[in-house]
Amino acid sequence: MDHPPYHCLHCGHGFTGSTSPDFPNEAPRAGDVAICIRCGELMVFTGEHDRFVRLPSEDEEAAFMKDESILHAIVAVRSTRSH
Ligand SMILES: [Zn+2]
Repeated sequence: MDHPPYHCLHCGHGFTGSTSPDFPNEAPRAGDVAICIRCGELMVFTGEHDRFVRLPSEDEEAAFMKDESILHAIVAVRSTRSH
């Protein structure tokens, strides 16, 4: 996916790309969840180039944490990170 580089709002990890298990060939859309591959924390794509990701609201985070595919991704990231 081509989109502007951005950094994790939690750990500062830099990203230049993203992938979605459901739509691997599509750019992320506004409101899509982003999971940092380094720290496993959640963010939300805004669809804006200037401010590419934001922190989820409490309601959004609660909803994400009920989504099994998101939970599996978080567990996968957190189990493979080196520290
Ligand atoms: Zn991170």
